[in-house]
Amino acid sequence: MANTSVQFTIKIVPAILTINGGSSSLKFAIFATGHGKPQRTVSGEIERIGLPNPTLRVGSSRRPVKVQNHAEALALVLEQINETPGAKDLSAVAHRVVHGGPLYRQHQPVNAAMLAELERLSPFDPEHLPADISLIRCCTEAFPAVPQFACFDTAFHRDLPRVAYLLPIPRKYEKRGIRRYGFHGLSCSWLMQQLKERAGEEAARGRVVIAHLGNGASMTAVHNGRSVDTTMSFTPTAGLVMSRRTGDLDPSLAAYLIRIEKMSVDDFQHMVNAESGLLGISETSSDMRDLLDAQQNDARAADAVDSFCYNAKKHLAGLAAVLGGLDTLIFSAGIGENNAEVRARICHGLEFLGIELDSIANNQNGAIISKKTSKATVHVIKTDEEMYIAQTITALLRNEVTS
Ligand code: ADP
Repeated sequence: MANTSVQFTIKIVPAILTINGGSSSLKFAIFATGHGKPQRTVSGEIERIGLPNPTLRVGSSRRPVKVQNHAEALALVLEQINETPGAKDLSAVAHRVVHGGPLYRQHQPVNAAMLAELERLSPFDPEHLPADISLIRCCTEAFPAVPQFACFDTAFHRDLPRVAYLLPIPRKYEKRGIRRYGFHGLSCSWLMQQLKERAGEEAARGRVVIAHLGNGASMTAVHNGRSVDTTMSFTPTAGLVMSRRTGDLDPSLAAYLIRIEKMSVDDFQHMVNAESGLLGISETSSDMRDLLDAQQNDARAADAVDSFCYNAKKHLAGLAAVLGGLDTLIFSAGIGENNAEVRARICHGLEFLGIELDSIANNQNGAIISKKTSKATVHVIKTDEEMYIAQTITALLRNEVTS
């Protein structure tokens, strides 16, 4: 009798799970990494972890969930992705880690020494590092045989010039690791790669300012592909006015509020990271869309938008001075990618730096929004930190050299 059974070969495509933990969010994605560039097969996010009404988004569908902390959020994510192709055959789990401190200056595999150092560094960034560490530990437990990698937001800024990273406080604190580090480095790396693909090597080696304007917002000056200064500092609270973070403040305000307003240290930390910025000024919302809608009728919303744009303009001009002029400006992240009014208000009056916006291209969120006559070219580029992580780890796994 003829053998009628059919032989199937199941091809296992290696996959990478990326984990990006924010102070109250967890973004995840799975990338198939068989050949060529990584392909995203699923992505999503849990928002409002530890706050009222958390939600889970997978692809474009969203639903309410019950999660109190990052460990519970991760368990839910792992449940969701269980049936996704590749989820059972991960070749790596790659984590965005906000702070590498003085020792961890490159993306690399996680080991016990790194986790111990990150624990020690937790007070450097109590808003993000404890969640990052908890996610790494939970993933190690869930996937004991799968290597874990850490991709550091600080790595892009590792070669900041001394004058940019040295803080003007007593010298002894530098030895204890207190200096400017800079953040949003994964986004900066991705955006510089995209700039090179779009505008060529020469543009990517020129004088560039990256304006990453999301809930967290920063600007970075880049020359010859290297970060030469950046607005965030020892922690991601510094620099621009943000959704809920203050950005730069008079340092003596802390002592005043603690002494006179009887604020505790924790209250102050909470105020500058979660109750300030757009939310603090407007008293209504940390979301730029709400404030733009409300600004005609609500002076507090108008103040918040004014403050955001004014502050960003001031930092942009400062970074252009550091660079000795500007060849390229990149707008990115939620506000930078989507909002013509904010981009126009930041650039207004900066013709002296060679920035001339094309209002039609700007209103259409065009890829290039400057006039042909503008000395500086202004790009709008979508950031993709997860894709950058997947590419970097794929290259590391293939033993390719990465920066
Ligand atoms: P995160 O830093 O949390 O990753 P995002 O990059 O998603 O944040 O940016 C969130 C911010 O982007 C919010 O303030 C939101 O209002 C703003 N945003 C998103 N779309 C628009 C838009 N069309 N116009 C203005 N602001 C927008």
